[in-house]
Amino acid sequence: MPKHIVVAGGVMSGVGKGVTTASIGKILQEHGYRVTAIKIDPYINYDAGTLRPTEHGEVWVTDDGGEIDQDLGTYERFLNLDIPKRNNITTGQVYKTVIDKERQGEYLGQTVQFIPHIPDEIKKRIKEASNEHDFVLIEVGGTIGDYENIPFLFAIKSLERDVGKQNLAYVLVTYLPIPSHIEEMKTKPTQQAIRLLSESGIFPDFIICRAKKPLDVVRKKKIETYANIISEHVISEPDIETVYQIPLDLEKERLGEKILKEFGMKSKKQPNWQKWKQLVDNILKPKKTVKIAIVGKYIDIGDYNLADSYISINQALMHAGASFNVGVEINWLDSKMFEDNKRSLNELKSYDGIVVPGGFGASGVEGKINAISYARINKIPYLGLCYGLQLAVIEFARNVCGLKDAHTTEVNPKTASPVIDVQPAQREILEKNMYGGTMRLGAYAAALKDKSQVLKLYQETGRLKEDEKRIDELMKDKTQAFRLGILEKGKKTVLERHRHRYEVNPKFVGILEKKGLVFSGYYERFDKTRLMEYIELEKHPFFVGTQAHPEFKSRLGNPSPLFYGFVKACGR
Ligand code: GLN
Repeated sequence: MPKHIVVAGGVMSGVGKGVTTASIGKILQEHGYRVTAIKIDPYINYDAGTLRPTEHGEVWVTDDGGEIDQDLGTYERFLNLDIPKRNNITTGQVYKTVIDKERQGEYLGQTVQFIPHIPDEIKKRIKEASNEHDFVLIEVGGTIGDYENIPFLFAIKSLERDVGKQNLAYVLVTYLPIPSHIEEMKTKPTQQAIRLLSESGIFPDFIICRAKKPLDVVRKKKIETYANIISEHVISEPDIETVYQIPLDLEKERLGEKILKEFGMKSKKQPNWQKWKQLVDNILKPKKTVKIAIVGKYIDIGDYNLADSYISINQALMHAGASFNVGVEINWLDSKMFEDNKRSLNELKSYDGIVVPGGFGASGVEGKINAISYARINKIPYLGLCYGLQLAVIEFARNVCGLKDAHTTEVNPKTASPVIDVQPAQREILEKNMYGGTMRLGAYAAALKDKSQVLKLYQETGRLKEDEKRIDELMKDKTQAFRLGILEKGKKTVLERHRHRYEVNPKFVGILEKKGLVFSGYYERFDKTRLMEYIELEKHPFFVGTQAHPEFKSRLGNPSPLFYGFVKACGR
C-alpha cells in the first residue's frame, strides 16, 4: 500500500504549492523511497491543451502525449521522472468518464449522482496512478474554499477511509503576509484556511508556511494553538532565489524525517544533498554568465506571464548552465522588431546565443527568419525548437538553396516551395476543426545520424543510454509502441516529446541536404515515411534545430543534451 501525501493550498493561489509538492517528493527520494506525484486540476477543460498559455503558463507535454498543466513539469524537473498523463486529473475528465459510462449502460438501473459516482471515479484514478510507488503525492489545485475543490476534497476524505489514516497525511501550504504598514507577519489568513479545510473533515498534519521571511517561534506557537498540531510540524518556507533551494530549506527543518515518522517509517538511506547543493550554488553564484536572446512572438502580455509561458525553456537553459557552472541571462526579444527595421538585427551581436522557441501562426515569422539568418551568417550559436527548426529550414531554403518563396503552408498555403507542410492525417483534422489533443503529441523516437553533433551530445550527456532503456519500457504498451514508429536494430535512437502539426516536407530533403543542411535524425513512420527530427550545420559553432521540444525532458542534474550543447557553445 503506497503512503499518500495530500497537498492543499490555503489563503491564495500562486504561493508555490507545485514546487513545494515536488520538493517533498525530492526529499523522500533522497531518503531512499520511490515517489510519484498527481496533480488535480479542478477546471472543466478536459486537459490543458486548449487553455491560454499566457494565463495558465505553458502547456506541458508528457511522454504518452498528454497536454497538461505545468505543475507536472515541475515534478519531472525535481524528481527526474517521466510522469504519465493519467497523473493529471481534471474535473472535465472525471465527469466525461462518468457520463460516457452512463451512456454505455455501465450503471444500468442506477441513478447516477454526484455521490458516490464522482468521488468514486476520482479515487479510481488516484489509485491507478499510485501503483508501485512507496509514496504518492496528490496536489489539489486551486485554493481551499473554492467551490470547484469540494468534489476532490470529498473524494480524498473517502480515500482516507479506504486506505486508513495511517497511510495518508495532509499538508497545507499557506501564505503569511507581512503588510508593509505594520511590518508584522500575520497568521490570520492561515487560521482561516485551516478552518475552511476542516469543513471538509480534513485536519492538516503539516503546515508549510510560505512567507517573505522564516517564521519565528511566536508565529509557530500561534499556529500550533489554532491548528492543534505540534509546532514541530509547522514548517517555514521563506522566499528564495531559485526554487531548487526549497528541498534544502525544508530539510533544514528536518521535514523528511518528520514525514517518515508520521507514517512510522525511517530513512532507507542517508540523504546526500551534496550534488544538488552544488547545482543550486552554481545557479546562485555562477563562475560566468552567458547572455541569451529568445526571439519569439510576445504580444499583449506583461513580463511576468511571459516568463511563465516559456518556463520549460527557461529551466532547460538554467539546468544546462548549472551543469558546468555557467549562469544564463535570458532576454526576451520580440521578433517583430526584426521585421521592418533590419538594422536592429545588429542588436543580436551582443548575445552569446539565440533561441527561436515553438510557436504558431504568421505573426512575427519574418522577424524570426531574419534573426536565424543573422545567427547562421554571423556564427552565433543557435538553437531552434520546433517552429525554430521549421523556420531555420525555410531560411536555409530561401537564402542558401535559392528557393525564394520557400515557406510553411501554415503561413502561406499557396507557396510554390512548401518546405514545411502538414501531414495528410493532420490536414483532415484541421478541416474538421478538431483542435483538442489532435497534434502530433508526446514522445517519438528518432534514429540519429552517425558522427553527427546531435548524436555526440546525446552520448556525452548519457541520454542515449537512458532513452534506449526507456524505449524498451514504452514498447511494452501497444499504443506507445505504435507511436515510437519503426525502430531499426543497431540504430542509435532517442526520445523527445512533440507538439506540432507541420513537418519538413520529405520532397525537399534532398535539395536541402545537397546544399549542406545536415539532417541528423529522423523518425520512421509505419508507412516508411521519414520525418526529419533534427538539423545541424557544419562549420558553425552551434547551429542545431529539432522538431521536438527537448525542454520537456530537462531536469536539474540531468540536462537536455541540446541545451547542454547550446549553452556550452555560448560560453566558449
Ligand atoms: N506551428 C508549428 C506546427 O504546428 C510549430 C509548432 C510548435 O512550435 N510547437 O508544426
